[in-house]
Amino acid sequence: MPIQTNKRQRTCIACGATQQKGAFHRIVRTAEGAAAFDPTGRAAGRGAYVCAGACLAAAKKTRKLERALRCKVTDQDYERLAREIALVEAPGRNEE
Ligand SMILES: [Zn+2]
Repeated sequence: MPIQTNKRQRTCIACGATQQKGAFHRIVRTAEGAAAFDPTGRAAGRGAYVCAGACLAAAKKTRKLERALRCKVTDQDYERLAREIALVEAPGRNEE
């Protein structure tokens, strides 16, 4: 593993790609122990990163999100996260 630098590289939990933090969608474990999409990338709590909705779908198949966040992630949670990421990814719906 390379030493962490101030570039703050993150790794996609599904495909293993590394990019800078802002290039990823962040999913955070809330204080209640549930998985939530974090569009700001700054919410407190354990986070996991995916490049795109396709990687979230891959993570669902292999339950990688549960391992990354160390909490239970239901099918409904995955579906909600997928919808929220799709909204951010959709053309013309950029939240910035
Ligand atoms: Zn990925």
